[in-house]
Amino acid sequence: MLYQRSSALFAEAQKYIPGGVNSPVRAFKAVGGDPIFVKKAKGAYLYDEDDNRLIDYIASWGPLILGHAHEPVINAVIEKAKQGTSFGMPTEIETQLAQLAVSMVPNIDKIRFVNSGTEACMSAVRLARGYTGKDKIIKFAGCYHGHSDSFLIQAGSGAVTFGSPNSPGVTQGTAKDTLLAQYNDLESVRALVEANKGEIATIIIEPIAGNMGCIVPSDEFIKGLRELCTQEGILLLFDEVMTGFRLGKGGAQEALGIDADIVCFGKVIGGGLPVGAFAAKAEIMAHLAPEGPVYQAGTLSGNPLAMAAGLAMLTELDKHPEVFESLAKKTAYLHEGLDAVLKDKGVPYQINRFGSMISVHFTEEPVVDFDSSAKGNNETFKKYFHGMLQNGVYLPPSAFESYFLNDALSYADIDETVEALKKVEL
Ligand SMILES: *Cc1c(COP(=O)(O)O)cnc(C)c1O
Repeated sequence: MLYQRSSALFAEAQKYIPGGVNSPVRAFKAVGGDPIFVKKAKGAYLYDEDDNRLIDYIASWGPLILGHAHEPVINAVIEKAKQGTSFGMPTEIETQLAQLAVSMVPNIDKIRFVNSGTEACMSAVRLARGYTGKDKIIKFAGCYHGHSDSFLIQAGSGAVTFGSPNSPGVTQGTAKDTLLAQYNDLESVRALVEANKGEIATIIIEPIAGNMGCIVPSDEFIKGLRELCTQEGILLLFDEVMTGFRLGKGGAQEALGIDADIVCFGKVIGGGLPVGAFAAKAEIMAHLAPEGPVYQAGTLSGNPLAMAAGLAMLTELDKHPEVFESLAKKTAYLHEGLDAVLKDKGVPYQINRFGSMISVHFTEEPVVDFDSSAKGNNETFKKYFHGMLQNGVYLPPSAFESYFLNDALSYADIDETVEALKKVEL
């Protein structure tokens, strides 16, 4: 496949945009080569600027769970846009989306809309601190909660890809309030809680991790976290920016059978437009301005176009919950297919999967936390990524990212993907 126009566009972009991209992982730094510039997309396919057709396993990093340019979503946005794009005043559609989200997700009474997952997590932590009157938070190595200062203490995803666990520009003052535990290691959390008795506002976690590949929490770990939080008066914060409205109507809370105290959303809830949200019981949300003293605001928050896309998306999922099952089946089918081919290739590998999230790691050991994920062989990953791309399959350009299946993918597309892997030399 030729990528002449993509390469030319990338060269031009680099003149005016740092690194040529507006979010680092897009730049292909982890896999080398020039990023693909996309022209348009429909269903399961991306069409790039060189007119290649690619089977897409990213779906804009998760939001497009029903495929690209899904008609009910696109039509809702077009109709809304004709009535004006932003008012800075309340609109009815905000309440409609809030009501629908609250009806689908367990343990939440009220929800606040923002513009990104980053904003949701940042604001949710402020709310947790304001509510508990405590300063410290615990996060897990390799979990990503957006790029706000408190979380860039040792970040997954983009920052890890660049081999820089701490970003310059984050102050020591901020860093000292974020404590790092190991995923799937309850003892590492207990030790931090003991050493900082009575000082921890919240434990924030990706309930199914997707930013160090897909990592599933053990039952004992996630139940233990819930118990520990309840005992110690710590709020359990589920960052469901990836998992919310993807693993089921009720997200990871429902899939794992664990109740969270605060939940963050992004990605699917915006249907492909910029939306984030955080939600909790009314008693906690009452602390948020203007009802309470914890400040949070946004000029474009609850933007009508974004709300229209989100409402159309959640309405589809609410009406067709069988989509989640269908996606999980397709993902299991992909798993089997990849597994059968990789077995013959003679390279060590692991495949992790939960619902419609899946990742391949080129390592001997099970991948259960950041350290085991980081042991993956990146040279093999590069060959895998570029080999698949040459054969028309677009996978995440970093071994630290989960794939997100979308329901427009057909079994024939998955067969084509598995056939592509047969041709790749690892
Ligand atoms: C993508 C993501 C974020 C950040 O969301 P943005 O919209 O990119 O700011 C936060 N948490 C998780 C788990 C994510 O996957």
